[in-house]
Amino acid sequence: ETETNYYLTDNQVASQIYKPLSPSAHKGTQGHAMIIGGSYGKMGAACLSAKAALKAGCGLVTAYIPKCGYTIMQTYLPEAMVLTDSDEHIQEIAFDLEPSSIGIGMGLGVEKETQRSIYDFFLMKPTKTVIDADAINILSKNKKWLELLPQQSILTPHPKELQRLIGEWDDDFDMLEKLKTFSKQNKVVIVAKNARTIVVDGDTVYVNSSGNAALATGGSGDVLTGILTGLLAQGYNNTEAAVLGVYLHGLTADIAIKEISAHTFTASSIIDYLSQAYKQID
Ligand code: AMP
Ligand code: MG
Repeated sequence: ETETNYYLTDNQVASQIYKPLSPSAHKGTQGHAMIIGGSYGKMGAACLSAKAALKAGCGLVTAYIPKCGYTIMQTYLPEAMVLTDSDEHIQEIAFDLEPSSIGIGMGLGVEKETQRSIYDFFLMKPTKTVIDADAINILSKNKKWLELLPQQSILTPHPKELQRLIGEWDDDFDMLEKLKTFSKQNKVVIVAKNARTIVVDGDTVYVNSSGNAALATGGSGDVLTGILTGLLAQGYNNTEAAVLGVYLHGLTADIAIKEISAHTFTASSIIDYLSQAYKQID
């Protein structure tokens, strides 16, 4: 066991990380985020993520999705460019773009071909990547692939995904030790999502102070991945993006429940309130 450096992510910490938009910005300087996800019946996960990446402020978003999601994505988010793989789930991840960041796994499914495509994706040595949902589940089924994880990656497991990835833990202390070890061994930042989300970067742990139970709603995590991918695209490193993104995500819900009922708050509400959240740290 090693000593842990704890930080609490509050408004001041988030404001220090935040970089305001430069007056000379153009879409090329704001970064190009790619979202890889979706399958038949789970296109919403990819759609929410792509919109969140765009709303987080990146210049361009490309969605890499199965063909069955083409019209869904283009209709939901006209700002996005769309690349499609064959039919109902992702079978092959191949593109000749150079995105600034990639978010992968939302609604992807774990079909054999999809698992293989994740392996091929890692072999491409992609840029800084947020690995979420079924991409985490696929890694958990194929732990040897951990050594292929892209540089500057962020993993965003919820408790069940985390358990599949690192195994059972005894108590919070044991979980934290396992997270620190995992982060150091695989050189990744882990966002361990929960009512109190923590960002683990080696022995450094950021405890998030924003958010409430309104976030306990389907698609909430997909929106977080979109925000993180959008921040990475804009040049934040993985720790900065994770700390700032988790804080903004929670803050949307804190602002919202002063105005609307927590019951009516959905994953789309996170995207809607992102503007007000940014205003509070700007
Ligand atoms: P997912 O399970 O992947 O959709 O992710 C759920 C997201 O909502 C994570 O960012 C969690 O931290 C957040 N969340 C869920 N429940 C709560 C809660 N009770 N309080 C604060 N945040 C929550
Ligand atoms: Mg999720």
